[in-house]
Formats: sequence, C-alpha cells, structure tokens
Amino acid sequence: MSLRIVVCVKYVPDATGDRHFADDLTVDRDDVDGLLSELDEYAVEQALQIAEEADDAEITVLTVGPEDAKDALRKALSMGADKAVHVEDDDLHGTDVMGTSLVLAKAIEKTGYDLVICGMASTDGTMGVLPAILAERLNVPQVTLLSEVSVEDGTVKGRRDGDTASEQLEAALPAVVSVTDQSGEARYPSFKGIMAAKKKPVEALELDDLDIDADEVGLEGAWTKVDSAAERPARTAGTIVKDEGEGGKQLAEFLASQKFI
Ligand SMILES: Cc1cc2nc3c(=O)[nH]c(=O)nc-3n(C[C@H](O)[C@H](O)[C@H](O)COP(=O)(O)OP(=O)(O)OC[C@H]3O[C@@H](n4cnc5c(N)ncnc54)[C@H](O)[C@@H]3O)c2cc1C
Repeated sequence: MSLRIVVCVKYVPDATGDRHFADDLTVDRDDVDGLLSELDEYAVEQALQIAEEADDAEITVLTVGPEDAKDALRKALSMGADKAVHVEDDDLHGTDVMGTSLVLAKAIEKTGYDLVICGMASTDGTMGVLPAILAERLNVPQVTLLSEVSVEDGTVKGRRDGDTASEQLEAALPAVVSVTDQSGEARYPSFKGIMAAKKKPVEALELDDLDIDADEVGLEGAWTKVDSAAERPARTAGTIVKDEGEGGKQLAEFLASQKFI
C-alpha cells in the first residue's frame, strides 16, 4: 500500500521585509510579501527522500493560511510533492497555535496519512511546539527535532542531536515527526518541476469542510492574547570612546555603567 506522507508547510512574512502589527495586534500579513518558511523546505526535502526510498508513496503538502499561501504550496509542489491542500477561511484571522493545530489535525485526518512531517519551527512564530500538539490531537506518537529520518517496515526512525548526546528514536506509523535544518539541504525546484507544479491538484478547504466552528479558532478561540505591542526604538549612534590616554578607563566606566562588569 502507498505510504501517505503529509508535510505541513507554513507561509510566513518575509523576514527581510518591514513587518508590523495590525490594529487588532495580529501580524499585518497583507502589508508584507510572504514565502514558504525556509525551515519547512527541509521537511519537504525529507519527505521527497523518504518517498524515493519507498516502493510507493504519495506526498501531500498542507498549509493553513491566507490566499497568498498558495505560493508556499506551489514551491513545495515544484520541489516534487504530488498534491496540496490549502485551508483558507476568513474566520481563521487571529488563530493561535491551538487553533492552527486543530485545523491541521482535521485536515490531515480528512486527507489520510501514515506519516506527518513538520519543520522544527516556523520562521515567524518560532514556537516549535506545533508538531507536538498536532501529535496529541491526532493521538499518534511524535518524534521531534530529527536531524536524520527514515522509514522502514512501518516504523519511522531518526536521530535527534542534543548538546551532550545523540539519541536514536523510532515510532510505529502513523506518527508525526519534525526535522531540523541539519537534516540535509533542500533541493532547488528544477524548471521541469516548476512547470509540472502548475498542473498538480490543490484542494481548497474551509472550516465547514472540517466540521470546525468559527468560535474554536480566530481571536475568539485563541488561548493567547497580545495586550500591547510597541515598535522597537530606532538604533542610536552609540557611544564612541576615543583613546587619548584615558580610553581603557573610559571603556571600563562605560561597561560598569551598563552593569556588564
Ligand atoms: C491567517 C493567519 C492568522 C494568524 N493569526 C495569528 C494571531 O493573531 N496570533 C497567533 O498567535 N497566531 C496566529 N496565527 C497562527 C500562527 O501564525 C502559527 O501558525 C501558529 O501559532 C503556530 O505557531 P508557530 O508558527 O510558532 O509554529 P511552530 O510550532 O514554530 O511550527 C512548527 C511547524 O509546524 C508547521 N506549521 C506551523 N504553522 C503552520 C500553518 N499555518 N500551516 C501549516 N503548517 C504549519 C510547520 O511545519 C512548522 O515548521 C495565524 C495564522 C494564520 C495562517
């Protein structure tokens, strides 16, 4: 039977752009260009490598995001994924990690899966917790932060590198894994891949299709709330110490005044 892999990919605001909060203190996503979270490219790459090793596999890329999030799906499809699912709904505005994980879990169940692959963290929220919450919601094992991953005989295996030790981990499928930026360079889409991606199916889903009520997501369903936000102050010129014999003393005084020494 075909190995069904679902890769969760997030469309994130370009970190090199000028990002702002909207009036309701959510990220103003209309104000800045977005792209496929770089860390999720590693997840797509690992899915492609697992599929290449398997006799028969199908890769679905899944995103919860606004209209423009299709760009992230197209990029993953042009890398080689087979099909895509896009959950988009006006009621998702303001959804936090609890709501996002609920929507992803329902969409994954609807799609059907043996293995879910996530990135280690998104490059905007950077919580790194979504894969664990997702596994809990799906009631399957989680093997997170892998720098090496493979699938053999219905088992997913991998290596997690810590500061002092490397662990070999495994779990029976179905399971959720997340992979790190050490798992292997993500491939660039080829011209053929980019052309092929235009014809690959992208299924559009709304909350109704997933039996999710509007009050379970959005700002209303969020477990977290941003009370206030302030712009980071502009950079100042800093203090320049000119050494005219007293430089060392002045430097020490400055460091002491800042409580560095
Ligand atoms: C339109 C929109 C509005 C939002 N508004 C808010 C808001 O106002 N406040 C708020 O707290 N959160 C909001 N979110 C949710 C937030 O952006 C995150 O998706 C969520 O909180 C997960 O946190 P994280 O990105 O830090 O995930 P992490 O735990 O860092 O992500 C780990 C991995 O989970 C997967 N993943 C994460 N998010 C998605 C996704 N959306 N689709 C597919 N895969 C994903 C990726 O594989 C990623 O590498 C919004 C999301 C969307 C799409």
